[in-house]
Amino acid sequence: MPLGGCREIGMNLNAYGYGPPDNRRWIVVDVGVTFGNETTPGVDLILPDPGYLETFSEDIEAIILTHAHEDHIGAIGWLWPRLRAPIYATPFTAYLVAEKLRERGLEGQAELNILQLRERRTFGPFDVELITLTHSIPEPNGLAIRTPLGTVLHTGDWKIDPEPLIGEDFDQAKVEQIGREGVLAMVCDSTNVFEEGEAGSESTAREALQRAVGEQSGRVAITAFASNVARVQSACEAARAHDRSVCLLGRSMIRVAAAAQSVGLLRDFTFLDPEKAAQLPPRHVVYLCTGSQGEPNAALARIARGDHPLVRFDSQDTVIFSSRVIPGNERSISDIQNMLADRGVKLVTDRQFPIHVSGHPCRDELRRMYQWAKPRISIPVHGERRHVMEHARFARSLQVPESITPDNGDVIRLAPGPVEVIDQVPAGRLHVDGDIITSDKAGGMLERRKMSANGHLGVSLVVARGRLEDGPVVVARGLSEPDGRPADESLDPIDEAAVAALEGMKRSELEDDERLEKILSRAVRRAAEQQFGKRPLVDITIHRI
Ligand SMILES: [Zn+2]
Ligand SMILES: [Zn+2]
Repeated sequence: MPLGGCREIGMNLNAYGYGPPDNRRWIVVDVGVTFGNETTPGVDLILPDPGYLETFSEDIEAIILTHAHEDHIGAIGWLWPRLRAPIYATPFTAYLVAEKLRERGLEGQAELNILQLRERRTFGPFDVELITLTHSIPEPNGLAIRTPLGTVLHTGDWKIDPEPLIGEDFDQAKVEQIGREGVLAMVCDSTNVFEEGEAGSESTAREALQRAVGEQSGRVAITAFASNVARVQSACEAARAHDRSVCLLGRSMIRVAAAAQSVGLLRDFTFLDPEKAAQLPPRHVVYLCTGSQGEPNAALARIARGDHPLVRFDSQDTVIFSSRVIPGNERSISDIQNMLADRGVKLVTDRQFPIHVSGHPCRDELRRMYQWAKPRISIPVHGERRHVMEHARFARSLQVPESITPDNGDVIRLAPGPVEVIDQVPAGRLHVDGDIITSDKAGGMLERRKMSANGHLGVSLVVARGRLEDGPVVVARGLSEPDGRPADESLDPIDEAAVAALEGMKRSELEDDERLEKILSRAVRRAAEQQFGKRPLVDITIHRI
């Protein structure tokens, strides 16, 4: 029962249930976020709505987190209070989850348990075994979920990296063993299903970064996903090879480096403070910074705008983008690149050097996975509609007997009997809006979008004993003024329309709030449309004395 992450890339939340309706036990796999965009002004974080699960949260045996990417763990701090089941994660993931729980004041309340890599453990009717895969973050785990009615292989995010550089190798033998035992269904990553061949190895990116840094003579900044610890290590090694020290910039870069060091990674490196780095000759420093997706508050954006207090880049310097453009971020990335170009900064992207490889499986890798696991049913997830449809077609071409492309909220019976969607439960999106968590369908966002496009008009008046005592006073927000005319003058026609409407009202209408508001706002809206060619949000405030 997916409540997020189907027909979309982001906010993964899957629940597996076993048993008859009156005695069904559950495990939850991943509790991720997705990010807001220009359609959700003021909202950066979006969560899957766990409302349906909440109604039987005492039947949830465990929340298991496959790996530490935000689309898999980002919502845990926000949603744990509504699920309240014990959390399980491997050490690197657990380090970052603990931080999220702390940030939400849940330390000591939420039970966070460490699973070791390859651990096998029973949760109620589920026998869950972790399978070590490779991806773009330390400790990516697939799950073999064994039940008396069959085994589900939940891959999580993966690729087959022959040289992952950090962490363990892809455990092909284990996948094959589970395939021989028999896999009922494989719930599988669809991100790169349109890409032929293979994603490529981190080792390629490492070698290319070495060359790219070697060609520079001024300051170098490398921007990459902080969570890609192998890439961070490669950047550190490229710096070391060219006699440069590394300075980390950005909160998540510093946080992930600490998480990595807590599990024994990146321990050969020391990092310089920005103050110290600023004193070094430019050719002896590499800044490793956040902001590869053009995030406006990240370190790279501040360097690009020239408002970073300790780091200045100019025409001697280079920024290396060791990352891909996530669809939807094209604009903000090119904004940053243009600002850097304005300062004369040299830009290096994966067009010049192969300095980025994807963390998700391309078609050759998917083909091998299906050959090893031999599932009876293919369940493509972690992709937009076009990805999961193509993945299902691809699985059929590999002789997988059945496939199903779920939507969030589908309840799929995998066994007994044929695979089938047997129910649909509510599965929405929640906005984190300041301190409030609210449905994406709530009115606030609709009004905010409307105001951001059309502006706002407020009209207030004082009425006493059925007579207009004072006003109307018209106030405008977010409306343009015609050139050269003072703001209040452009409101004159609105004001006149309001006065005319009030003068035309009967005493009984003036005494009835609802009628008064309706007539007045209709007149104001009509006048606004004539004056501005827009339909602003209109509020009428009536004071009665
Ligand atoms: Zn993911
Ligand atoms: Zn991932």
